[in-house]
Amino acid sequence: MMNVLEFFRNLPRKHCSSCGNVIQEKADCYGNVCDDCDHPAR
Ligand SMILES: [Zn+2]
Repeated sequence: MMNVLEFFRNLPRKHCSSCGNVIQEKADCYGNVCDDCDHPAR
């Protein structure tokens, strides 16, 4: 049985579909864009 922490550690990092930066883990998954591109004002 795989350890849960190991499972998440092996997950590939998501990259912003707009600028390509690595998306920081956050509770609300707002598509595939990073925080910089996630601003509604931009
Ligand atoms: Zn971005």
